[in-house]
Amino acid sequence: MYTELSDARLQLAFPRTMRDSANMQSVSVLIPLALPGPYDYAVPDDMMLARGDFVRVPLGPRQVNGVVWGPGAGDVAPAKLKPVLARHRVPALRDPLMQFVDWVAAYVLAPPGLVLRQVMRVPAAFEPEKPVFGYRPTGTPPQRMTPARQRVLDVLKDTPPLPGPDLARLAGVSGSVIKGLHEAGSLAKTELATTGSERGPDPQMVGVALSPAQQEVAIALGTAVAAQTFGVHLLDGVTGSGKTEVYFEAISEALKKQRPALILLPEISLTAQFLARFERRFGSPPALWHSGLTPAERRRTWRAVAENRVQVLVGARSGLFLPWSDLGVIIVDEEHDGGFKQEDGVVYNARDMAIVRAQLTNCPVVLSSATPSLETFVNARQGRYKAHRLAARHGAAELPDIELVDMRTSPPQRGTWLVPQIGTAIEAAIERGEQALLFLNRRGYAPLTICRACGHRYACPNCDAWMVEHRFRRQLECHHCGHARPVPESCDACDAPDQLVACGPGVERIMEEVAARFPEARTAILSSDHMGGVAGIRETINQIAEGGADIIIGTQIVAKGHHFPKLSFVGVVDADLGLGNGDLRAAERTYQMLSQVAGRSGRETTGGRALLQTRMPDHAVRQALVSGGRDAFLEREAAAREQAGMPPYGRLGAIIVSATDQQEGLRFVQELARKTPSHDALRVLGPAPAPIARIRDRYRFRFLLKGTRQAPMQAFISQWLGGVQRRGSVRISVDIDPYTFL
Ligand code: ADP
Ligand code: ZN
Repeated sequence: MYTELSDARLQLAFPRTMRDSANMQSVSVLIPLALPGPYDYAVPDDMMLARGDFVRVPLGPRQVNGVVWGPGAGDVAPAKLKPVLARHRVPALRDPLMQFVDWVAAYVLAPPGLVLRQVMRVPAAFEPEKPVFGYRPTGTPPQRMTPARQRVLDVLKDTPPLPGPDLARLAGVSGSVIKGLHEAGSLAKTELATTGSERGPDPQMVGVALSPAQQEVAIALGTAVAAQTFGVHLLDGVTGSGKTEVYFEAISEALKKQRPALILLPEISLTAQFLARFERRFGSPPALWHSGLTPAERRRTWRAVAENRVQVLVGARSGLFLPWSDLGVIIVDEEHDGGFKQEDGVVYNARDMAIVRAQLTNCPVVLSSATPSLETFVNARQGRYKAHRLAARHGAAELPDIELVDMRTSPPQRGTWLVPQIGTAIEAAIERGEQALLFLNRRGYAPLTICRACGHRYACPNCDAWMVEHRFRRQLECHHCGHARPVPESCDACDAPDQLVACGPGVERIMEEVAARFPEARTAILSSDHMGGVAGIRETINQIAEGGADIIIGTQIVAKGHHFPKLSFVGVVDADLGLGNGDLRAAERTYQMLSQVAGRSGRETTGGRALLQTRMPDHAVRQALVSGGRDAFLEREAAAREQAGMPPYGRLGAIIVSATDQQEGLRFVQELARKTPSHDALRVLGPAPAPIARIRDRYRFRFLLKGTRQAPMQAFISQWLGGVQRRGSVRISVDIDPYTFL
């Protein structure tokens, strides 16, 4: 993390107070669009405005919402300005959030209006409220009862009426189950009170009895929250050590101080288990913020945050941009997770920005992980972050034994992908009434399809990428642009019928092998291709947790903090996947992913175990996994990065240029290359075609900037890009602290 606010390059000047608002004849208004900065508007005589107020203003022929950012710049006479049309009846944005918007914009080099758009994503928030309907049980059982229907009715047993989406989420069912129950006469619609009726989380409820080690960390975090000052805390505990229970205590402390708590999770839509746990601890569920909410839910939650009625919110990265008037603590759970990096639009890392947000608000931030990112690890070691350790699993549970299988000396049988040892371990788990998980981070059936007759390989027409076979859907699909076509019956190139062969395995292919080998076993597949979408994934996760599957096959979705009590064996089909791509963080990421996956086993069973199929058994990542030498591994990684001047010891930035016309793109990057400024602390590498040189029919080129920690990366890039004129189909995107190098 190199985003400390003390960093002088990014010290921004803010108008802390505005002159007596009655005297203001003009204001500058920031509009949530990609404009260069705020625009001035005249203040009508009968209007009083202050910094942070939400207003409606004319923009060309349109009317738009914006925020008063300060007094007018004054370079145009107020009489010549268009007037502010209205002030919205919404609490004004607070200074820390406005400073945050400016800070993020300056850091990621985005127009401030685009960053403000993250705050104002809910246009309905400014309109009068519409009635909200919920469901209550009628007492009439449906003619046909299913487990899903039963869960819905069970949820309603001890809650007030709930809106359909909330009900579906809590019960882990899809909306159609609720509709079915309504049609069957078992649920009735009823209007809900929209504000103020929510029972909040209760800090007086007591949690589990913490172990002495947990207690010590809980007290340290609680003290930090009570002190109401900024600080970064690393909660570093092995999988299953009770990190969640411990940070619940920090939240409880914030509640006692009546300051809200924000929990950021990387995969918020899949967190039914987490929510149930929260509710057990605090007696009521937290507010939620993620892309799966309905517009009505978004409006309700946004307003509730603005009006300071939300005590705890669990959210995706954009939760940072909610109109908090105050914050007591920010928790970033699974802080190492790449999902915190937003890759399109405003490109930012929510983990890093959470720290900035906490500093501006003056509250502690807790980064929680069993496998901290190298950045965080180094910051903790250097004392910038306070580290708290939980070295053992809770209670009698032990960390799984991790072993390697060398595929070079003991390969799977011809035409199969799993070594005999994995088959035996699955068998044993099933016999004990436990579950086995097979992990392969590759969607679909096979990553490549070839014609046996002529060697033709099926590639995407729009991208530099192979088409991936999805056998359940009988399609070839491109994972970059979504292009899909039916699996052809004869070869595109040579017309030979029935000659296509699938190369390599994806999860569907592993599923096929498992089904053939264990025909009696109940299997479940977990990947983002789930037929039922997010609701379906959630349903499958619930089923697995309740013991409804014997063998689970999954992509990275299974590595995300789930608690499957009966899971005792994990087989990793290809532990080398991702190590070969030359990415700066390849080793670190592989380590994180594999130890998280392995950490799903043995959480409540005795003797959890993981077997990793590999062709590189001597790689440092393997040794760290097998011998539990995480810190030694991270130290070595850190030393290598320091030597190479790579993050966190140096800084990286990337500029990606794309164009629909290859020549146009090429000419533009050549011009950029000619106009590269020079600076002692910064080196520019490239231009080079991006590793995926074409996506969605756009040709892509990359510059990589590498600098010392002190290098003025932002100023350098601004000056550079400011000196060229973007033309035609050319698009430029800037990525500060890049995580992907594609
Ligand atoms: P982590 O977040 O570190 O993976 P969790 O907080 O999920 O760990 O804890 C793992 C399991 O152990 C959970 O089921 C949790 O409820 C249980 N657990 C942790 N600490 C305690 C405790 N002190 N008393 C009872 N159960 C605990
Ligand atoms: Zn494509």
